[in-house]
Amino acid sequence: MKEPTNAAAAKQLCTDCGFCCSGVLFIDVRIEDKQDLDRVVNCGVELEQHDNQNFLIQPCHCLDERSHCKIYDKRPNMCASFECGVLKHLKTGDWSFSKCKKTVQEAQVHVSSLTNTLLKLGNLDVGVPLFLRTEEVLSQPWDLDGPDSVLELRDQLFQQSADLSSFLETHFLSEEEAQEREES
Ligand code: SF4
Ligand code: SF4
Repeated sequence: MKEPTNAAAAKQLCTDCGFCCSGVLFIDVRIEDKQDLDRVVNCGVELEQHDNQNFLIQPCHCLDERSHCKIYDKRPNMCASFECGVLKHLKTGDWSFSKCKKTVQEAQVHVSSLTNTLLKLGNLDVGVPLFLRTEEVLSQPWDLDGPDSVLELRDQLFQQSADLSSFLETHFLSEEEAQEREES
């Protein structure tokens, strides 16, 4: 199969992925720049404020159902400048498009397994970042007299969450980003 050119490949990879907007990698985007803030506010995007800082919460409301950013030309610099490990490999030519795509697909399988387990455990908070949803379920008290199936699902959730985090930390996040994610 013919590989797409670099710019087209990057666009296709990100459109098929969307992890840096959908609450898989991050819980929010901090808007530090005044021009960014004005642009985003003028687009009618709702921001969260805490500690005198503005945040675009994730899953981002600007992401449409086709994984396109609705304010792409006016998106904050933090978004425009972010490149995950896979995208960096693609841009430097270290990895082929096929390898990058396969890595995103593998991550999607992890995400999908985790999401299915969350659903089975009754967590339907699709508007909340994935790992916060997981934490919420795992922090609920254990009912040791509950059905075995629930206990098994919780074990499964724990393992799937660890596997996803490890995969993302290996392929998508820098050490610093992984650390920030851990602390958020
Ligand atoms: S996580 Fe990487 S590949 Fe996925 S959309 Fe973001 S930059 Fe693109
Ligand atoms: S503003 Fe656009 S690029 Fe930034 S997180 Fe939201 S959807 Fe993604």
